Amino acid sequence: MGRRRNLPSIRQSASIISAVRSRRQSMFEVDWQTPHLWRKTAQTRTTAPRLSGDHHTDVLVVGGGFTGMAAALGARDCGLNVVLLEGNEIGSAASGRNNGLVISHHSKASPSEFEKVYGKPLGERYNRMVADAAGVAFGLMQRFNIDAHQVQEGWIQPAHTEKTLERARQFHDEWKAFGANVSWLDRDDVSARIGSPYLGGWMVHNSGHINPFAMTIGLADALEREGVRIFENSRATRIERIATGWRVLTTSGSVTAPEVILATNALTEDIWPGLKRTLIPFKVFQAATPPLSEELRAQILVGNPAVSDMRNDLRYFHYDCDNRLVSGATHSLWFDEAQRGRAKVAQMLGKAFKAFGGPPEVDEYWHGTFAVVPDRQPRLYRLAPGLVFGGIYSGRGVALSMSLGQELGRWAAGKSSDDQMPLPVTSMKPIPLHALAVQTANKMHAWHRLKDRLG
Ligand SMILES: Cc1cc2nc3c(=O)[nH]c(=O)nc-3n(C[C@H](O)[C@H](O)[C@H](O)COP(=O)(O)OP(=O)(O)OC[C@H]3O[C@@H](n4cnc5c(N)ncnc54)[C@H](O)[C@@H]3O)c2cc1C
Repeated sequence: MGRRRNLPSIRQSASIISAVRSRRQSMFEVDWQTPHLWRKTAQTRTTAPRLSGDHHTDVLVVGGGFTGMAAALGARDCGLNVVLLEGNEIGSAASGRNNGLVISHHSKASPSEFEKVYGKPLGERYNRMVADAAGVAFGLMQRFNIDAHQVQEGWIQPAHTEKTLERARQFHDEWKAFGANVSWLDRDDVSARIGSPYLGGWMVHNSGHINPFAMTIGLADALEREGVRIFENSRATRIERIATGWRVLTTSGSVTAPEVILATNALTEDIWPGLKRTLIPFKVFQAATPPLSEELRAQILVGNPAVSDMRNDLRYFHYDCDNRLVSGATHSLWFDEAQRGRAKVAQMLGKAFKAFGGPPEVDEYWHGTFAVVPDRQPRLYRLAPGLVFGGIYSGRGVALSMSLGQELGRWAAGKSSDDQMPLPVTSMKPIPLHALAVQTANKMHAWHRLKDRLG
């Protein structure tokens, strides 16, 4: 019966077809002005002006997400003049719309696996940055007195099968040996803390969760106080080489700078030839319940940790500042996305937490797009002398972007050399059969669910 209910109706089928036809290009664009949970519960900020006229600066950052803002901070901390251009508003893309999990752990890989790929000194530097990333992010909140509804009560990764239990143990053991503050949780402990049955899991203690939009607002305010000039609604449309470096143009002005950092992530368009073909935009949605009762909170996520498990169709959750349970998932087809998204998350939460006694009410819904690459290794591209791109975190970028971004800023300021960076500095790595890869990645959801069912 449930399966039959999930079949699209004629009306829905028509909307699927028209969605596929008319929105192929714009599927990843975000209705960023529509209020979503994080915006509704965050402080407000006066939008910075639109760029007008011609400006000059030492370092120009394009993109006002966590990577771009952290890069601006890194360069400003080196004493340079910095301008930041954001195409929409600060926090309008992934950084302001994500789940808010601040995690010091790789996306899927273990420290030794990264060391194997990068070799010893570089692999170790990268692992060090990842291990410290959540601490760095919470440190920024402290340094600038940012209220991002931050909770640093750890992140738990529980295992639901024997195979994932083994993998969780490997993550724990390797990070422990690396010196990270992690601990192992046995079956009873992990199940009691989460309020859902798992076989065991591990916990990273410097991690936690935030309201990510509040963090973007707080960071932008801090940057302006530090003297970074921010321009919003100022999309960079063209980059030109000039004798002294680069001129970046918007529709109403331009900025010249010897050093330019592109931090445009999943929404990268044609600003630099070929750049957008080096990443895959991946669309996901988020949803949240109304505030939970004290009785439910005593059984679900006890101690207020952040949690994401090891399913291919990941289950992840944490509380927001009003005790709403915030989670998310993705669709393969985006017809009736909000209604279906709320229902999907309600069903998942009902299954995960017996305390609900069935699917709970889910009333908040929004979506966002992040950038992924098949090898899940973040990228640092030197596009040309004085022009760099950094980012692509494959869904694990909240903590990492704030560390890597600052490194990028210091690097662009000439304070660290290529071989001191925590990632290899490369030329662009185009993704073969890009258009097909984008479609395939965004339709993998059903396959992931099937793999989970087959164990
Ligand atoms: C729904 C969702 C849930 C997620 N959950 C988590 C999570 O819980 N934990 C986690 O670690 N990661 C999570 N992520 C991933 C994380 O949010 C991203 O990796 C991270 O925010 C990337 O930051 P960024 O600054 O590189 O990119 P973005 O935040 O996407 O910022 C890029 C900015 O560049 C701007 N831009 C693009 N082109 C131009 C241009 N030409 N001119 C000017 N500006 C331009 C865009 O408008 C945008 O504001 C999630 C992502 C999404 C979408």
